[in-house]
Amino acid sequence: MSNTDFDGYGFDTLAVRAGHARTNEGEQSEPIFTTSSYTFGSAAEAAARFSGATAGNIYSRFTNPTVRTFEQRLTALEGGERCVATGSGMAAILTACMGLLKAGDHIVASRSIFGPTVLLFGTILARFGIQTTFVPLTDVNAWEEAIRPNTRLLFLETPSNPLMEVADIAALAEVAHRHGCWLAVDNCFCTPALQRPLALGADLVIHSATKYIDGQGRCIGGAVVGSEALVGAGIYGFLRTAGPSMSPFNAWVFLKGLETLRLRMQAHCASALRLAQWLERQPGVVRVNYPGLPSHPQHALAARQQTAFGGVLSFELEGGREMAWKLIDAVRLISITANLGDSKTTITHPATTTHGRVSPEARAQAGITEGLVRIAVGLEDVADLQADLQRGFGG
Ligand SMILES: *Cc1c(COP(=O)(O)O)cnc(C)c1O
Repeated sequence: MSNTDFDGYGFDTLAVRAGHARTNEGEQSEPIFTTSSYTFGSAAEAAARFSGATAGNIYSRFTNPTVRTFEQRLTALEGGERCVATGSGMAAILTACMGLLKAGDHIVASRSIFGPTVLLFGTILARFGIQTTFVPLTDVNAWEEAIRPNTRLLFLETPSNPLMEVADIAALAEVAHRHGCWLAVDNCFCTPALQRPLALGADLVIHSATKYIDGQGRCIGGAVVGSEALVGAGIYGFLRTAGPSMSPFNAWVFLKGLETLRLRMQAHCASALRLAQWLERQPGVVRVNYPGLPSHPQHALAARQQTAFGGVLSFELEGGREMAWKLIDAVRLISITANLGDSKTTITHPATTTHGRVSPEARAQAGITEGLVRIAVGLEDVADLQADLQRGFGG
């Protein structure tokens, strides 16, 4: 069954069925194709495959049936035409940039993006003659003012990490297109279960599949989704040649993750909202950053743009680093780790971990204070999470 046979099916049907072309064995669950290369019936067939005259598998750096199943399923869920799966989320961002940009091009990116993405743009791509200007995520005018004649790409994450600021994807897509640029959205925090950037006008969706798509903290992987013209040409061309490809085993874990993605996201969001409301009432909590709270500055935008508010929240404690570390050190159930998108709840102190390499001035500008704590809410009982945190609040 090709992907187009799934036209007209709903999200939940696509999540469990799209992309699987059942083999002659009649398997119910998707097989893992652990093979590096593929055989041909004749020398002429090999020649035709290599020349591109006939379609088909050649070598797993290029294509692999299990990886393709994952790619087609994610394409269907994001509402795109083509996906390229990569060995990590960072490899997805690198592959998108290397596939689309050249020396002399310019990127405008949100200041509030994943730390390694800042380093990739600001130091590595800069060495190859691609400059980046960083702007505040929610200030549409600042994005437009930063655009130069050689700007090709606008890049953002929404909601942002760890402050959960929300960008107006449709407004920024309009700005990008008016200036002949592409808009890429890192949809890691929402996943297509909560937000579909392509439908809002974005040209590319980037994923770290490591997070919610896996959902149980097992594998590293990533993906780029967009139109056939953008992803099928330069982006796939870079992957095929440079080789930041996804392994079949990881693809299988991720495609099984997609089957339960919406149900898991619903549970993450429901628990995060309850925890956010509870945190707002705790002594010593100055502010809770969660788009589902009416106190959030982009609450209305998030309600319009997302189907729910996500599984990550952060909050600011009175007493700075001392109180933040005291709270973190008091937990016994919640895992102290910087990962997110896991069934197990995680807690982290951004200023000294995920954002520890950012300069103190940049951290202050970005609002990442010493009293800020981030929680990626898992699938445990909320009452147990509250009881665990209660210890740190001195309860
Ligand atoms: C984790 C993460 C990445 C990078 O993904 P890896 O799989 O760790 O390479 C990119 N963007 C966001 C928003 C992330 O959280």
